[in-house]
Amino acid sequence: MDGEENDGNREENLLIMERKNAWNTYNETDVEKLEKVAKGYKNFLSEAKTERECAVLAVKMAKEKGYRSLEELQREGQTLKAGDKVYAVHKKKLVILYHIGKKPLEEGMNILGAHIDSPRLDLKQNPLYEDGEMALLETHYYGGIKKYQWAAIPLALHGVVVKKDGSVIELAIGEKPGDPVLGISDLLIHLSSEQLQKKAAVVVEGENLNIIVGSRPAEDSEDDKEKKEKIRSALLKLLEENYGIEEEDFLSAELEAVPAGPARDFGLDRSMVMGYGQDDRICAFTSLLAQLEAEDPLYTSVCLLTDKEEIGSVGATGMQSRYFENSTAEVMQLMGGYSDLALRRCLQRSHMLSSDVSAAFDPNYASAFEKKNTAYLGKGMVFNKYTGSRGKSGSNDACAEYIGELRRILDDAGVCWQTAEVGKVDQGGGGTIAWIVANYGMDVIDSGVALLNMHSPWEVSSKADIYETYKGYKAFLSTDW
Ligand code: MN
Ligand code: MN
Repeated sequence: MDGEENDGNREENLLIMERKNAWNTYNETDVEKLEKVAKGYKNFLSEAKTERECAVLAVKMAKEKGYRSLEELQREGQTLKAGDKVYAVHKKKLVILYHIGKKPLEEGMNILGAHIDSPRLDLKQNPLYEDGEMALLETHYYGGIKKYQWAAIPLALHGVVVKKDGSVIELAIGEKPGDPVLGISDLLIHLSSEQLQKKAAVVVEGENLNIIVGSRPAEDSEDDKEKKEKIRSALLKLLEENYGIEEEDFLSAELEAVPAGPARDFGLDRSMVMGYGQDDRICAFTSLLAQLEAEDPLYTSVCLLTDKEEIGSVGATGMQSRYFENSTAEVMQLMGGYSDLALRRCLQRSHMLSSDVSAAFDPNYASAFEKKNTAYLGKGMVFNKYTGSRGKSGSNDACAEYIGELRRILDDAGVCWQTAEVGKVDQGGGGTIAWIVANYGMDVIDSGVALLNMHSPWEVSSKADIYETYKGYKAFLSTDW
């Protein structure tokens, strides 16, 4: 083969394999629809910054669309039939929506799965201390973060404090315009010559991610003049008075420090969204929206919003728990067709889009990507045949046959989509929930939306990708396999 021919082939190959930029396919109506979805998404991100808040909001949205609680139906001895909508919530952190299809459950379900936990800083169980005329809270970070990114930015505190009597105090401090914000200090540049010699992984160390919460000492009364730690005691008094929290209550609390402030438009052309927790609420929201808009599905539509993905899908609310299987068994029971074999068939015959974020090509760090097999902002919904690292280790590796079917479904529905790997082969990698549901033998593939700044306090996505992914999910849910 001579050089000229070779080059010609390559060019042709580039044209065929080049994916469209979704923006080029839109008319005015499309852009209006896209902006509507993006607006809903920004509100969702701003309102729901923890897995618990996401679960509450998802259930609220589901109820508005006629979904009923699985537990309630069980209590009332009700049954389920085609067209019915039901939701299940586990420990306030994991939500599953079922929209019963016309086909028997045994023939499988169309499942959209995403996770609603995001990287953040969790308060330690004994968090409060005083040092250098300040009161601070100790944290232990959750999920993979670049620790240095969390210093010198405004943080909000979200979560629950459970009292010994079982009562629950819900907190969200730092989001309303008049709220105070909290934060972690960073060393001034003038004194940083030593710090800046350190590797980025230890420039700010995990043990130093301490959140400053106060600096004003309690007023002296005659008998506590000798007392030490007056700032700490002032803080405790404030917690008691404002929120009814005693120090011991921290022992049974889940308080998460997250970047403070709402999601907003990004770029002079407003083509992108910047917000916290887009991994993976971008897939959770678009999945939820598609699920809520599904009409008379042939196969039972499922939207599964799970927790603990960022730390390995462990725990009772992670994908590795049996909750999804158990809930599906309960739904089958209410439909009158439960048997162990029917449940196994249902799960094995199901199709799933395991949705999570992917890395968008970043021109500032181009060397981390292989350009032909990377996702680009604006080129639509992303499919990762496999994820994993060091030779696909830990990945699901979806079947070519399944991908073939998905290509047809998406192309027929006019959805812009792209395929990608997360970075260069030996660059790193990551895991999702796909391999866990693949244990049932079902067809599942990693899909989702590409992000810039993934796992940073402020992640960036493309409005076009959000819109195309939502369209893709809708097409998937209405598929007759
Ligand atoms: Mn994720
Ligand atoms: Mn993640």
